[in-house]
Amino acid sequence: MTQCVFSGSPLRLFNSLSRQIEEFVPMDPAQARIYSCGPTVYNYAHIGNLRAYVFTDTLRRTLNWKGLAVKHVINITDVGHLTSDQDEGEDKMEMASKTMERDIWQIADHFTRAFKDDLAQLNVWHPTLWSTATDHIQEMIAFGQTLEKAGVTYELETGLYFDTSRVANYGALASASLAGQAEGARVERIEGKRNPSDFAIWRRSPAIGKRQMEWLSPWGPGAPGWHLECSVMSLKYLGAPFDIHTGGIDHREIHHCNEIAQNQACTGRDHPGANLWMHNNFLIDRSGKMSKSKGEFATLTSLIRRGLHPLAFRLLCLSTHYRSELEFSVEILAGQLARLKRLVGAVAALQLKVENASWKRIPREVVYSSGASLSYPRQVLEASLPPEGDRIITAFDRELAEDLMTPRLLPLLDETLNHPRLSPEVKLRLVASMDLVLGLKLLDVHRSDLSLRPENASLTENEVLASLTQRQEARKNKEFTIADQIRQQLHAAGIELMDGQEPAWEWRPFLL
Ligand code: AMP
Ligand code: ZN
Repeated sequence: MTQCVFSGSPLRLFNSLSRQIEEFVPMDPAQARIYSCGPTVYNYAHIGNLRAYVFTDTLRRTLNWKGLAVKHVINITDVGHLTSDQDEGEDKMEMASKTMERDIWQIADHFTRAFKDDLAQLNVWHPTLWSTATDHIQEMIAFGQTLEKAGVTYELETGLYFDTSRVANYGALASASLAGQAEGARVERIEGKRNPSDFAIWRRSPAIGKRQMEWLSPWGPGAPGWHLECSVMSLKYLGAPFDIHTGGIDHREIHHCNEIAQNQACTGRDHPGANLWMHNNFLIDRSGKMSKSKGEFATLTSLIRRGLHPLAFRLLCLSTHYRSELEFSVEILAGQLARLKRLVGAVAALQLKVENASWKRIPREVVYSSGASLSYPRQVLEASLPPEGDRIITAFDRELAEDLMTPRLLPLLDETLNHPRLSPEVKLRLVASMDLVLGLKLLDVHRSDLSLRPENASLTENEVLASLTQRQEARKNKEFTIADQIRQQLHAAGIELMDGQEPAWEWRPFLL
């Protein structure tokens, strides 16, 4: 490996394989290569899924922040993912098609588009490449044949299976042994499987009942296994080995163990395929881990309908470290929205004071959309900072470099905005630089953009604000009866107020 010198603190990331934080050294000193497991497009993404992509986006922005270009691939799983990750049940896509009575390809297309829209609303950069599973069937068949030649597969009536006892250290990523899996295994439903952890490389179509998605293969007509897809697409586009593989923590237990087994067998190099395996923890709500198969779940659109802006959700994700569980409730999110409004308001006030700063003439696209390198604008933004500004941005870099400690970045943002001695121009430059990583659009979004009108609201934002001003006046003049009347009128219109010294929010529609 070639040594890469990052600017600032060395970047250290948690590797699920070693269960340790390790210094990150990209294989190519100019570019990091990342693969992220993408969505299974049989339904809308829930906000737990979206947490996974805010995490990868933060990782990608961090690598750019450190001066490294990134090649990022996200796949679209439109075939092969069964209702249980452990290779049991029905294909989620085929099942959705039956339930929704819609053509399977239309379903895939509809939910892929919806997913990409969600990412755009969260200001998550699109990857360098989207790769769709069904576009890679021939490569998957060829990969299966290589595995067959390597002697790690066996054929059953139901298809071609991977024999997990044929690779070294199967399950190391999950810290699970084959023996352990056998003991804890659920009732095995596939006749003839040699080990409970063995999984399908190719699933042969049943003799009766044709699948909508099926292809011819040396093992009969059928469809590829889900784990195969990610091995094929990651190695095809990023080479073997590549730098970082990401996914939600549920993938650490089965999906990624199986990818690793395939990669080891295919390359014959006993290498897991990626040097670093990173996993975000779950988003949970009161009922536990959010999951699509539960049927009822929160989507970004359902939050927008309640007047909760997507960027508030991004802020919520950043406020918790990616390896910790993120607790979600509408109340908590409303608190983050109020926090975001305050931040945007403070930045807008600074912008009024700094009209003609030269760095503001840098085209915004260079700052926000280039996946290649952000080091030029960052250098401009941080050029000749006074010592206090330098201290803050150095601390920001240090926290970020320590396994993406985003919750510690936000107080540094507050400190910048409230700093008694830094000039407005320096403050703005610091905020612009920090926002390259935070992605909250702090300089681009207006406070009013964040106030979405909830579907059930009978008042506009301006009407609410006018009533609030009247109420403040009344309170100042000690006309408490009038103030109470206004509160009651707002209450009747579905608006809740919060009083107090430093309320977490000022007003909001009734959320629950
Ligand atoms: P899926 O569409 O189910 O294939 O999942 C897409 C991504 O979301 C994967 O990386 C999952 O590991 C991740 N994921 C699923 N559920 C959650 C959750 N509740 N919280 C965080 N990430 C999740
Ligand atoms: Zn995957």
